[in-house]
Amino acid sequence: MGDGLIVGVKIGQGFRTPSTANAVVESNPMPEVLDPETRKALVERLRYYRDLGIYDFYRRSQPEPDLPVAQFNIAETTEPAPQMSNAKAAAPPPAPADRTSLLRLIREEIGDCTRCRLHKQGRKQIVFGVGNPNADLMFIGEAPGADEDEQGEPFVGRAGQLLNNMIKAMGLRREEVYIANIIKCRPPNNRTPERDECETCSPFLMQQIKVIEPRAIVALGAVAAKTLLAVNAPMSELRGHWYDFRGTKLAVTYHPAFLLRDPRQKKEAWKDLQMVMKELGLQPPEKTTDQP
Ligand code: URA
Repeated sequence: MGDGLIVGVKIGQGFRTPSTANAVVESNPMPEVLDPETRKALVERLRYYRDLGIYDFYRRSQPEPDLPVAQFNIAETTEPAPQMSNAKAAAPPPAPADRTSLLRLIREEIGDCTRCRLHKQGRKQIVFGVGNPNADLMFIGEAPGADEDEQGEPFVGRAGQLLNNMIKAMGLRREEVYIANIIKCRPPNNRTPERDECETCSPFLMQQIKVIEPRAIVALGAVAAKTLLAVNAPMSELRGHWYDFRGTKLAVTYHPAFLLRDPRQKKEAWKDLQMVMKELGLQPPEKTTDQP
């Protein structure tokens, strides 16, 4: 998927090829009702810039202090944070409340979606995404499965348990990262999403990424990697490099469901995660020095 997707999301920058270099939970309450003035202003701002094909209005003029490892992703803190070498975004992010509101707007815009065939193929609900709107790290999977469709949250089944372990092994908690999928509805019998389904749905994911502005993205599995990077290459080639995804570093690793089927590959996945940890200045928790 290439230009169609880029045009679809109306974002000016294109995808790049591999670079040798690159909490609050969604189920947590966002404000029930946005202040009408704020809401109107946000909607107008979203529409205006979306029409122009840009999203840069999410940036603030004053840089936010960098977070130390111990406070990774706890952006709600009012304490000034010491400097960390791998700083998040030279360009400052929006205030935490803005991110929450903007994500809420994206969710509202999706509504009870009927944009693709999946709405009439047995999906119970839309699985928007979960995690910290201020996350430094975002995981992107393929599509909700049965458990996710039931609970409305990504990665809550067996693959989700393994993803949780992977996150823990990186020295993080699930609540500190943001987790989403390329598509938001469960395909029948968990089949691989069709290209047009990805093209229809992924613009909303692009908006989520743009709002969250993570320092790094981990694409879980081939569908996520190929969709985000608009390349058609085997996992063996996709893994082990950093990519520049519209200015954000993106790494590819095996999908947890694949790792459940072939646990020998966990060792390889752990290498990918260590690459990400190095980039984010993360240390594994003391007791979990082993791979997940
Ligand atoms: N697999 C995915 O790709 N996403 C989920 O949310 C669950 C399983």
